[in-house]
Amino acid sequence: MTNQKFQRGFTTAILHSDRDSPIEHGSLHKPLHLSVAYGYRDARELAAVFQGRASGYSYGRQGNPTSTALEAKVNAMEDGVGTVTFATGMAAIGAILLALLKGGDHIVASQFVFGNTASALLTLESHGHPVSFVDATDVRNVEAALTEATRIVFVETIANPRTQVADLKKIGDLCRTRGLLYIVDNTMTSPWLFRPKQVGAGLIVNALTKYIGGHGNALAGSVTDTGLFDWTTFPNIADAYKAQPPHLWGLQQLRKKGLRDWGGTLAAEQAHHIAVGAETLALRMDRLCANAQSLAEWLLDQPQVRAVHYPGLAGHPQHELAGDLFRACGGLFSFELRDGIDPFDFLNRLRVVVLSSNLGDNRTLAIPVAHTIFHEMGAARRATMGIADSLIRISVGIEDCDDLIADFRQALAVF
Ligand SMILES: *Cc1c(COP(=O)(O)O)cnc(C)c1O
Repeated sequence: MTNQKFQRGFTTAILHSDRDSPIEHGSLHKPLHLSVAYGYRDARELAAVFQGRASGYSYGRQGNPTSTALEAKVNAMEDGVGTVTFATGMAAIGAILLALLKGGDHIVASQFVFGNTASALLTLESHGHPVSFVDATDVRNVEAALTEATRIVFVETIANPRTQVADLKKIGDLCRTRGLLYIVDNTMTSPWLFRPKQVGAGLIVNALTKYIGGHGNALAGSVTDTGLFDWTTFPNIADAYKAQPPHLWGLQQLRKKGLRDWGGTLAAEQAHHIAVGAETLALRMDRLCANAQSLAEWLLDQPQVRAVHYPGLAGHPQHELAGDLFRACGGLFSFELRDGIDPFDFLNRLRVVVLSSNLGDNRTLAIPVAHTIFHEMGAARRATMGIADSLIRISVGIEDCDDLIADFRQALAVF
């Protein structure tokens, strides 16, 4: 079964994974299992499930059959040894940090990480986990930040909103040499554009809310263990989770100490929405990446535009690196208007593009960054992240590209 799974193409595997195990009434989708609790006729079986000696369900906070079916799909997409889903991407990241770190453990993170991730890391710092934020586009900055207490290195693939690309392969090599847990948040690329396992990631985070779900109708997150990290070298695994083979220790602790104890559980309805969206991930990504490339190139030529930040453009500092790593450069770019053009006046003229804070929706969305999602952090920190006051972020959707260009053309025309 396992071999057969990996021989199937990416989309075939997602479409047919629900039927890899027997499914009620020949249903083509895994049904929604809404029960909070699961009953047993045999008390010994109940005990075996509790002790992890038998597979099964006990209480819904630890998962349900519908979320398990989604875990199998994400796991196949990322070529992992196991995947745990959560209610949101942030719940997944929070669970990793709370379940796997002990007081005093040091974290090295990219200084360009998602704003809420940066905020969560700062909270953790106030709880006694020192954090170093570094420019992860150069592995030397990561190496210089490592200390005896460093336990994890956390990066994203393409940064939001300035699209810096982390030095993913070299950071992976560094982590392997130093025996460090390397965590890659793959949300911006999704497993269709990039598999972090290729660069040595131990754990992969996906905010399923974004491209994998794709329709802006459900929140979810996941953590996949690639099987590359040697958990026997990790000092924080509790003895209770060492009964299973070592490659499962980390995920077992994450499922218990992370999901069960903190309760960021993915509900069956949400898991179903994400699973349906995932079926078309590759098709949607190809379309929206092509749209993003065309739109970014078009904007770059407009006299009203000062700069466009997109790894698919030849002038981007990591253009070549992105070409080596990713199938395409993703659906998100940002740009700055010429001085004197008010970004709010421009945004208010858009008709097709929606003014909204999400990304990874089928619809194209725009937002003024410094005044919204990056407002709370303040001007000084924005400056270190390269975020100009006039920066506009675009999450490109799957509309007909001509309609998108026409919308930007008419919105820019008055300036
Ligand atoms: C959105 C996002 C998250 C958080 O996901 P939610 O489902 O919104 O909690 C984490 N990382 C990245 C890169 C994101 O874009």
